[in-house]
Amino acid sequence: MPLYEFRCENSHLHELMMPLAAADRSAVCPECGSAASRLISSPALGHLGSPRARLIDRAESSAQAPTVVDQVPGTGPSRPAHTTHDPRHVRLPRP
Ligand SMILES: [Zn+2]
Repeated sequence: MPLYEFRCENSHLHELMMPLAAADRSAVCPECGSAASRLISSPALGHLGSPRARLIDRAESSAQAPTVVDQVPGTGPSRPAHTTHDPRHVRLPRP
């Protein structure tokens, strides 16, 4: 989802993330409540694929379509096999 910059009549700058399909070019300023118009600026293409951009994309997709799990991660058949053969390790406390 792209990030848009807005400036109100009192020159307050703020940013909003909204879908591309949202053709609305105005918003309400969070500081003074007056109408704010969208600024035209160059896209931040340098951030594509960055860890921050991936985190934002993952958070958005998780909010819209969260992954449903039926068991606690790390348990069940996908748990890794034992890597030690020392019988004393069996008596160690488990998480
Ligand atoms: Zn304002």
